[in-house]
Amino acid sequence: MTARLIDGAKTAQRIRQEIAEQIRANKLSPGLAVVLVGENPASQVYVRNKGKAAEETGMHSLNHRLPETTTQAQLLGVIDELNHDTSVHGILVQLPLPPQIDAQAIIAAIDPAKDVDGFHPVNAGKLSLGLPCFVPCTPQGCMILLRETLSDLAGKKALVLGRSNIVGKPMAQLLLQADCTVTVAHSKTRDLPAECRAADILVAAIGRPHFVKGDWVKPGAVVIDVGINRIPNPADPAKTELVGDVDFAEAAPHARAMTPVPGGVGPMTIACLLGNTLKAAKKSL
Ligand code: NDP
Repeated sequence: MTARLIDGAKTAQRIRQEIAEQIRANKLSPGLAVVLVGENPASQVYVRNKGKAAEETGMHSLNHRLPETTTQAQLLGVIDELNHDTSVHGILVQLPLPPQIDAQAIIAAIDPAKDVDGFHPVNAGKLSLGLPCFVPCTPQGCMILLRETLSDLAGKKALVLGRSNIVGKPMAQLLLQADCTVTVAHSKTRDLPAECRAADILVAAIGRPHFVKGDWVKPGAVVIDVGINRIPNPADPAKTELVGDVDFAEAAPHARAMTPVPGGVGPMTIACLLGNTLKAAKKSL
């Protein structure tokens, strides 16, 4: 068996086209504000990509770049302005934030109706209750790819590797809503390989390059690799490359289908962010 590639880039492109069509057809003008504090190079790339993607669909994007020394009070002031700006429908604060700022306090200050990341406690609570809400973009994207790959998720054993508030926990909630039998594994889990081997669906989100080995993958499983890890390129150590949390070459002979890194979950995260922003703009009418 060699895994079928789950082409997240292609699905994301289709979703972005659909969003652009809806914006044109309904003469909408969704606004996405992206706030970046500091100079983290990876965050700068993410913020640039999100802003560019928003504009390509016909949204307007506002970039707020604040210095590394920004205080919590100053950032709360920016959030307050954006909460009251009627041209802004979605607010995204790029994480991580510098240590002097309490990220939870910032997330809690965002108007839940503009929380297109889905990280606000109101949206997280609604997700766990199964109520309509803004669903965090990365797990939302993973679910779209899973539904495209598997005709029926009900009763499948799903293992979510990682329990962060932004990926692991909401991913587990969504799989539960889809009637999977869900296990959440983390750094204290005993016999992780055995937990993985029992899973029909394996979602890896831990930020450890090539952590999941080939023989951890149940034959025929669907593997969603959320990890984004930059490592030295083995062929040319002066260069770097992006790899996932799963050892792709080892896992491919075992899995039925797998997402690549890059080109799997990453583009879906951006597409779902745009989808959430469109939803916020429509709800504000
Ligand atoms: P966090 O660092 O917040 O969480 C990592 C989780 O992995 C924790 O729950 C931790 O367990 C667990 N973990 C870490 N090491 C191990 C280990 N050795 N064995 C078992 N569990 C372990 O990460 P995020 O959830 O924010 O991100 C995870 C990965 O996903 C990263 O590579 C990140 O770059 C990527 N990512 C990709 C996105 C995309 O669009 N493709 C979007 C967001 C993230 P514990 O809780 O016990 O410490």
